Parts: sequence; C-alpha cells; structure tokens
Amino acid sequence: MKEIKSVCVFCGASNNIPRKFLDIGATFGEMLAQRGIRLVYGGGDCGVMGAVANGTMEHGGQVTGVFPVSLRNIENEHQSLSEIIIVDTMHERKMGMFERSDAFIVFPGGFGTMDEMFEILTWKQLQLHEKPVVIFNYHGYWDPLIALMKNIIEIGFAKPVNATYYKVVTELDEIMDVLGV
Ligand code: AMP
Repeated sequence: MKEIKSVCVFCGASNNIPRKFLDIGATFGEMLAQRGIRLVYGGGDCGVMGAVANGTMEHGGQVTGVFPVSLRNIENEHQSLSEIIIVDTMHERKMGMFERSDAFIVFPGGFGTMDEMFEILTWKQLQLHEKPVVIFNYHGYWDPLIALMKNIIEIGFAKPVNATYYKVVTELDEIMDVLGV
C-alpha cells in the first residue's frame, strides 16, 4: 500500500445529532494532526464535517476543503482552513477530494455521505483506483448498511470480491492500523 499522507473523510453535515458523533469526529481530527496526515473533506463548517476539520486545525494539522459554490445557500464553507478550493459542481467536488486523498474514511453521516462512499466503492469495483476505504462503524451506526451490503453480495448482485474493497472498524485506532500510520 502507498504511504498515506492525506486522508479524505466522508461524514455528515447535520448538527442535529447526538453530541458523541461530533466529539468522535473532533478526536479523529486531532489524531490526524498528531500524525501529520492532511485531512481532505467537503469544506463545510457544520456537523461531523466541521468537527473533524476543527479538531485537525486546532491541533496544528493541515486541512484541505473542497466546496462547491452551488452549495452556498444550503451549507457554509469553513472560513479558517489551511486550504479551501471552491469548485462549481458537486462532481468537481468529489473529483477534487478523490485526487487529493490517499485513503477514504466513512464516518457516520446521511445520504450525502452514503453517496460519496458508494461512488468511491463503485470506482474501486471498476478498477479506477485501489485506495483503501474504511467504514467507521461507530456505536453500530452503519450496522444496517453493512448488513445490506452483505445481502447484496450473498444474493449475487455484487461479487464476493467487493467485500474486500472496504474494511469495517469500530475504533479510531483501528482506522490508523488499517492505514499503517
Ligand atoms: P450528509 O451525509 O447528507 O450530511 O452530507 C454530507 C456531505 O455530502 C454534505 O457536504 C453534502 O453537501 C455532501 N453531498 C450530498 N449529496 C452529495 C452528492 N450527490 N455529491 C457530493 N456530495 C454530496
């Protein structure tokens, strides 16, 4: 596996969630900063997205946000990142995050987070990349999704090899172990 220097985090933008999800995001940001790994994410200032970014920045880490101008009436971009890249479309945002990242971590989130995760997994299925994808199943948040993904493979709508395209972990330290950092 290529040395991991930057990590993309897909996660929720909602603030209307239990505090523990924001806290664990902030702790992960701190861990990235301690290891000198750049955070790449969607550039928003709210929810788990904002928490991971703040956790990284507050501990001296480097953060790149990729934010689509079209989103400004729904979400706000973070005002104090090391680097903010403003793009025109959601597709450019995804590509911008993909190109700058050595690995992808899926934190708890909503529909947008799932969209981002499945795009990166389907790109892997199409052999467009071999970058690690780690699903952080914090407090069993992703259990129903993981069960669905297993079911899809069992019934035959995806190949058994697809199960090797992602790792599911329950602890932050395990994320770092999978990435070898
Ligand atoms: P959510 O998980 O729904 O809170 O969304 C997390 C982030 O994903 C937010 O910044 C959303 O703007 C973003 N997002 C939502 N839908 C898409 C999409 N189709 N493509 C790229 N990003 C998206």
